[in-house]
Amino acid sequence: MQTRIETVDPQRMDETIMAEAGRLIAEGELVAFPTETVYGLGADALNPEASAKIYAAKGRPSDNPLIVHIADFSDMARVALELPPQAKLLSDAFWPGPLTMIVNKSDAVPQATTGGMDTVAVRMPNHPVALELIRRSGCLIAAPSANTSGRPSPTEAAHVVEDMNGRIAMILDGGPVRIGIESTIIDLTEPVPMVLRPGYITPKMLSEVLGQEVILDPGIIAADDTRKPKAPGMKYRHYAPKAQMVVVDGKEQAVVTKINELVKEKRDRGEKVAVIATEETRSCYEADIVLCIGRRTDEDAIAQHLYRILRECDDLDVAAIYSECFQTPRIGQAIMNRLLKAAGHMIIEV
Ligand code: AMP
Ligand code: MG
Repeated sequence: MQTRIETVDPQRMDETIMAEAGRLIAEGELVAFPTETVYGLGADALNPEASAKIYAAKGRPSDNPLIVHIADFSDMARVALELPPQAKLLSDAFWPGPLTMIVNKSDAVPQATTGGMDTVAVRMPNHPVALELIRRSGCLIAAPSANTSGRPSPTEAAHVVEDMNGRIAMILDGGPVRIGIESTIIDLTEPVPMVLRPGYITPKMLSEVLGQEVILDPGIIAADDTRKPKAPGMKYRHYAPKAQMVVVDGKEQAVVTKINELVKEKRDRGEKVAVIATEETRSCYEADIVLCIGRRTDEDAIAQHLYRILRECDDLDVAAIYSECFQTPRIGQAIMNRLLKAAGHMIIEV
């Protein structure tokens, strides 16, 4: 399949291109598009054949449900069996934005879209191109991240081209994304609302708006496989670079010393290694390649650069990657969730 790659200025969208992209979705084809979190791979959410194409293009396991993207809160009533009281409160506070809500699904949503589940994940993205695509298509758009299954999520169009060129009808290039990690997922079908995937919007922010306790799925905290995460996608070794990756946690100087020791061991065996460091520590490492994720205090930059850096590690063809920890105050939980998954939970405490 020939993939059309179109540049779209989010502030001045080309009418013809957006109309064409909307038409492709309505016809059951796949279009990749930017959102504020990561790039999505979109299809008509209510058309089971279109949803099936997403799984095929990504090589995604068929039990891993898709998120349905809407442009107007009223569309929630089309996909939800009933609206939980929290949905409107959260929508008013965070939509459009990086929050996905899980509700019981209506009959309109095919199981091909929900991976066989009776619940559905819904989000209103905060990106002009995404919202315009939904409106133009006249559809609700099912979209997971636009990467091949198992690779880091795409944060710029070039990443989507790498993974999807020749497999989908169109890629809309709206420039690099703003946030860089996937949406927070909150499950509203639980007696106590439960965060199934940490993201930019924290449990504390959710709890403040709802005026009730919000808990974190115990299955995503456990490093071992003793508890199963509730979001099927969280059990897969997502976000993973090809090389073995190890995260080192502790006081700054101890971390630098430990990583340099590990680097030396590999180099003595003639192996190439990469280190993921911060602006403050980058000059302290003796590795072949030091990738700087940003300033330690700038957590937005760390989130924004994480997946691009994991992809760079693949391109550099290194044998091992050693990374510092990024336990930042607000979105550190979301960042560390991705980083530890990339490392298959290989962590050394010093
Ligand atoms: P992605 O869009 O690639 O970031 O993946 C969507 C994430 O949402 C995956 O982790 C899915 O398992 C999760 N998800 C989607 N729908 C549901 C649902 N109905 N129940 C639980 N998790 C869901
Ligand atoms: Mg994904």
